[in-house]
Amino acid sequence: MRLSRPSKRRIHFSVLLFLVPGAMCFPQTRIEKEFSAKVSKTRLLEQVQDLVRLGSRIGGTASGDKSASYVVRKFKQAGFKPIIQNDPLRLAFDLKRWSLRVTEPRDLRRLIKHEWVGAYSPSVPDSKSELLYAQDPQKASKLDLKGKALLVDNPVSTKMYQAMAENGASCLLVASPVLERAYSDWAMITDLPPSKTNPIPLFNVSLNNARKLQSVLQDSQTVMIRFSAEATIDSARAKTVIATLEGESEQYYLICAHGDSDSGGPGADDNASGVSGVLEAARVLKELVVSRRIPKPKFSVRFAVWGSEMLSTEQYIRLNARHLKDILGVMNFDQIGTGVTRDCLYFESNDVKYNEPLLRTLERLGEEYAGRRGYWNEATTNPSQGGTDSYVFFPSSLRRLNVPDLEIPSVTIFTGAWNELKAMPQTPGWNSKAWRGPPDTVYIDFSAYYHSSLDVPERTTEREPFNMIGAVKAVGIALLRLAW
Ligand SMILES: [Zn+2]
Repeated sequence: MRLSRPSKRRIHFSVLLFLVPGAMCFPQTRIEKEFSAKVSKTRLLEQVQDLVRLGSRIGGTASGDKSASYVVRKFKQAGFKPIIQNDPLRLAFDLKRWSLRVTEPRDLRRLIKHEWVGAYSPSVPDSKSELLYAQDPQKASKLDLKGKALLVDNPVSTKMYQAMAENGASCLLVASPVLERAYSDWAMITDLPPSKTNPIPLFNVSLNNARKLQSVLQDSQTVMIRFSAEATIDSARAKTVIATLEGESEQYYLICAHGDSDSGGPGADDNASGVSGVLEAARVLKELVVSRRIPKPKFSVRFAVWGSEMLSTEQYIRLNARHLKDILGVMNFDQIGTGVTRDCLYFESNDVKYNEPLLRTLERLGEEYAGRRGYWNEATTNPSQGGTDSYVFFPSSLRRLNVPDLEIPSVTIFTGAWNELKAMPQTPGWNSKAWRGPPDTVYIDFSAYYHSSLDVPERTTEREPFNMIGAVKAVGIALLRLAW
């Protein structure tokens, strides 16, 4: 009796497959398989390397322009006719070169390794200063600081920074925060307020190095540092690159990523990974259409690499104000290159009612492919966290931009956010079968190199190429189900 059961079940199952067309979606359709097979790990990784090599790709800087040209070239190679969006002026910090070194005591001369300049630091010539540890920055800012460099434990307020400079401080060293997994030997990047006239530069220091310097100073030893910075700070326009895969209809899905490094650092995960993902999804879909493996899509698919996170997205909305109703959905890649604790794909903003159809498509394919070779181990939707380009399409933002406040489904796909694990209560009704954690809580995975001097390919995308591969496959499969 026991032996006969499985075969009976098998018969039932195949009959079901035959009768219910929806169930035919899986086992994997030919075209989803073909799309997935064409996603190239080598290309995804190389593109991240190429982008990081260009610098921090801040919109309006030389490195930002080079990055836009690179994206244009890649789209053209894939057979698109990309266009450049006219972005608004912004104050762009263009860092040319900088140096920071401990000169005394001599045994600390090799200490500085993975530190980083804060954005909007002014240019200063090669200078030498004695370092002081300002345990209480409030008190320190009132002292005579003529020619002294100050080491502080946390970023200081603009007011305090100004007071320190007015009292003669030559530069500011900011220690990285204390976190379980991040910033021990590399620096979290914090910035000065955007201004052309900041008086003194800021250097971000790793936590271990800051502690080392503090302990030497508390031993009453003299610490001398030598530093310089060369940067231009000017109003300039970021360059956003847009390419469209034409469909039968003007209505379209928008696949996007911010092209600048979020922090002004190398930004391999945040967000060269996202840019590389957009380019790869575009390339493979175009190739399938050109080679007639699939027809022209029913709806168009537009790809955008924003020159400047949020700002360029706002500009896109302003410039397309009369055609916003054509946007069927936005899928934004931000940080798809790494994740410390899980191999999970996240689809964000399940607390937004009108995102439901788009997110159910992602959730379903997330479940169907989870655990399969070449895909992800886990996938889940999660509530809104804010702070990335998909939010610019939300009605509240559209109202602020004075354009029709439509309900445009808009989600972000990522594999890790922030610099430590974050627990969020799951939105009721959104329990993915591909989530291996508790049903009522989503643990948002993180990057140990978030906004840091070591957000480089070797530490993020190259350690876990499966993250980018999975994100591109998920979005490609979603498009094949939605736009064709
Ligand atoms: Zn980002």
